[in-house]
Amino acid sequence: MVKADVLVAGGGPAGVLSALTAAKLSDQKLKVILVDAKPYSEIGNKVCGDAINMAPVTFLEEKLGIEKPHGDEIADLIEHLIFKTEKASFPIQGDGFVLNRHPYGQRLLTTAEKYGVEVRSDTRVVKALITDGVVTGAVVKNKKINETYEIRARITIDCTGRNFQIRKSFPKELFPNLEKHMEKRDVAASYREIIRLKGEDHPYRKEIYLLYHDEIPEPGYFWIFTKGEKRLNVGIGWFLDTKVDKGMKECYREVLHKYYPEGSYIVEHHGGGQVPTRYPMTNAVAPGFMTVGDAAFHVNPLSAEGHGPALTAGYYAGKAAVAAITANDVTETQLWQYNIDVMNHFGLSHTKIQLFTAALRTVKVKGLEFLLKRKILTKQQFIDLHAGKKLTALEILKISIRAFPRYGILWNIYKIAKGARIFEELFTGYPQSPEGYPAWQSRFETTMNQIRAI
Ligand SMILES: Cc1cc2nc3c(=O)[nH]c(=O)nc-3n(C[C@H](O)[C@H](O)[C@H](O)COP(=O)(O)OP(=O)(O)OC[C@H]3O[C@@H](n4cnc5c(N)ncnc54)[C@H](O)[C@@H]3O)c2cc1C
Repeated sequence: MVKADVLVAGGGPAGVLSALTAAKLSDQKLKVILVDAKPYSEIGNKVCGDAINMAPVTFLEEKLGIEKPHGDEIADLIEHLIFKTEKASFPIQGDGFVLNRHPYGQRLLTTAEKYGVEVRSDTRVVKALITDGVVTGAVVKNKKINETYEIRARITIDCTGRNFQIRKSFPKELFPNLEKHMEKRDVAASYREIIRLKGEDHPYRKEIYLLYHDEIPEPGYFWIFTKGEKRLNVGIGWFLDTKVDKGMKECYREVLHKYYPEGSYIVEHHGGGQVPTRYPMTNAVAPGFMTVGDAAFHVNPLSAEGHGPALTAGYYAGKAAVAAITANDVTETQLWQYNIDVMNHFGLSHTKIQLFTAALRTVKVKGLEFLLKRKILTKQQFIDLHAGKKLTALEILKISIRAFPRYGILWNIYKIAKGARIFEELFTGYPQSPEGYPAWQSRFETTMNQIRAI
């Protein structure tokens, strides 16, 4: 048996940031162990679209002094995110990077080690250890030497991504405030390739495109992200509960060949993965326990960007772990600040974005095309609606004229705006401690179910 103050399961962005923050903010006084199933040299590598916006990396620089991606960690810069159908497009300004995730992930890992984090690679978390209703570590297995042992810790943080290995091992009846599973409807499957063009450079430098095509069930999309000169990160994804006639790779190839015909590119790398794509878990703590990143649904529900939120939430989890151990109190009440921080940072915005995702399932590609092409909403109105702000009577009149004769779409816009305002009110009253949570969660569930029904 091994003892630690903090055990972090998973060495992706969520896990590395949780571990690094706990070690750094405690002035290396806490013993932090990070375990990952992968070999050391593969930690940080992942099949991904590789896009990250500027906000989370600026946040890490300010809070922890971690330098932004640089050098060979960057494949290209991003200046615009563009939503596009075959006939219309809607660009949004947004600075960021298309990363080479592997070197960036490895830098974060070695930085964590510099602050004293002990990394145990090739080590898979099997299940949680629970003592008197408190999570006290996990059973782990080193695959290389085929050894199974316990790591006992005062705080255990589940960052095992889509596997959510620790949380799913909790007995059903324990921790009633914590969700124990993932629904198919909340997980997107995806496939992507890194391609090198044989001919001229592509026109997507400094841009990332989310493309909505008839062949792809909404709110799924095809993406084309710059990966530097003559290189692209191209992929496709849709929700697991969607019924599709074709296979994902077949569909991918068909759409790709609309842009780059067979023989015009070389596939440098290919792979797939699943992304939990939903509003964040509204409670991600239990006694002695927190969960972060994909394991806690921290991915943006429209764009499926989860790298930045995983880094950000990892910081908050590490900070909460230090506060709890310093106070010698690992109760749900003590750890609740982690929930508050995540809800304040992106909980509300991701929940509102979920409304757009739901609307996209309803209006379909043709509706989106109509909306974008006719400029039914101005960019500012789009942002205002998303923020739950009210439109003036004159604005509503102008929108109605532009929307004629597709008032069904207008009705959807109205419902999004109304839903966004309801969530805004709900999140303003997010409970400051676990006591108020069951009543709040019941109101949240009712609202979410009403939206699902629509
Ligand atoms: C195809 C694809 C494209 C994507 N594109 C983008 C994008 O462009 N931009 C963006 O921001 N996000 C994107 N995402 C999402 C992004 O990759 C994730 O949101 C992000 O990596 C989440 O970080 P994480 O640390 O929570 O999980 P992960 O990065 O998945 O890390 C989990 C870690 O846990 C380890 N692990 C798993 N199970 C165990 C276990 N039992 N024991 C020990 N270790 C374990 C794994 O080895 C891994 O290292 C994409 C995802 C996919 C699949």
